[in-house]
Amino acid sequence: MTDTTKNPFRALPSVNELADDASLQAWSAKVSRGRMVEAARQVLDAVRRELTADNGQASPPTQTDLAQRVDRVLNLESQPVLQSVINATGIIIHTGLGRSPLAAKAVDAIADVAGHYAPVELDLPEGARGKRNAIVRPLLCELTGAESATVVNNNAAALMIVLHTLAKDREVIVSRGELIEIGGSFRLPDVMANSGAALREVGTTNKTRASDYAAAIGEQTGALLKVHPSNYRIEGFTQSASIASLVEIGRERGVPVIDDVGSGALVDFSKFGLEDEPYARQSVDAGADVVLFSGDKLLGGPQAGIIVGKRDIIERIEKNPLMRALRVDKITLAALGATLQIHRDVERSTEQLPIFAMMHASMDVLETRARAITEALAGVGTIAQATVEQTTCYLGGGSLPTRGMPSVAVRLVVSGSEDEFAHRLRGGKPAVVPRVQDGAVWIEVRTVLPQEDAKLIDALRAAAK
Ligand SMILES: *Cc1c(COP(=O)(O)O)cnc(C)c1O
Repeated sequence: MTDTTKNPFRALPSVNELADDASLQAWSAKVSRGRMVEAARQVLDAVRRELTADNGQASPPTQTDLAQRVDRVLNLESQPVLQSVINATGIIIHTGLGRSPLAAKAVDAIADVAGHYAPVELDLPEGARGKRNAIVRPLLCELTGAESATVVNNNAAALMIVLHTLAKDREVIVSRGELIEIGGSFRLPDVMANSGAALREVGTTNKTRASDYAAAIGEQTGALLKVHPSNYRIEGFTQSASIASLVEIGRERGVPVIDDVGSGALVDFSKFGLEDEPYARQSVDAGADVVLFSGDKLLGGPQAGIIVGKRDIIERIEKNPLMRALRVDKITLAALGATLQIHRDVERSTEQLPIFAMMHASMDVLETRARAITEALAGVGTIAQATVEQTTCYLGGGSLPTRGMPSVAVRLVVSGSEDEFAHRLRGGKPAVVPRVQDGAVWIEVRTVLPQEDAKLIDALRAAAK
């Protein structure tokens, strides 16, 4: 018996020997010697643990095997930590998938500023100090009709800084029917508590009248707040106060009125059959002092919280020290600016903004795409049946879950488990996120970007192998 059979560890190469393996030398152009040695160390440590757990039964791996494992480690380490996926869920503004895909113009704007310097707080050509949010202020004013505007990290941050500015250590009057939770992580009462404003609930879950707000106003009142109940609807015997009636009360009593419209439609969404989506301009026109909405819901832009309203209030918000913690960076400003420019031209916005294109796609076009996908999958691997079906898909992103729009999906019946098939799709390259329901895997076509169809087919075929 040789020494190596008594002690399999002795047969293993040293960390340096393994890092020097000829098969790994292509890596030296991409990573430092230090990273290669570290990867070799990781693999050898893992192998030692495996051999120990195995009580010396297994024979030690060959240097070729070891080098292949090092190659896999280096490969894995060089993958981007976040990669794009194909959204086949049928939920257009999918928070788990990063909400809105951006318009090409916004992507170009990001690419330009990301790897370079950009005058975020410099007034070119004067060379004087400029204001960060002044970059998008004129566009926001133009599109909403507001006197002034500013931007923070997201709409939750917008609500937080607005309440902190107007009602810290005071009360905010809000309807019981509007104490909402969105996506689990946004609970209105929690955000309000963190802003330092005390919640003063009025009315009942299903009915709140303007007079309920008026009756609750007192010494301690800092603001009246209206919140768009984006993701649910109370039906039947209901009543809520209009923003106009709150503005009337607020003016009379000298109390500012805040309107959190949530999704923030800048264009009239009735053209998409979504009549009751509040339209930021309507709220500004009705006289709300401050109107808040998200940048990455119906605006189709980057994550941001947009605050528009009266000039003096916006100035106070911008002077609030919290602004320093909640401000946006050059990437957000570039993408938001490009997105707002698209909203300026409503006619062309449908082609330019991916979420508008998705909402607008006709059933005919979706059916044609679905048929092409179905045909490419006939008889492939574990796909037993691929059919085109009419379905319902949703806007998502804190918009009404009850409000669907007609859509088209490819329904896949697979041999074996559909969960397993979906698991393989999510692990593929690119990853595809489907819907699993009623014993089938559903590929919703409306939320797949048309230029992704070919990649989607490849990914489906790969998962079926
Ligand atoms: C979505 C939503 C928010 C939270 O906005 P984020 O941009 O996700 O922070 C706040 N209020 C309303 C009414 C919403 O719909």
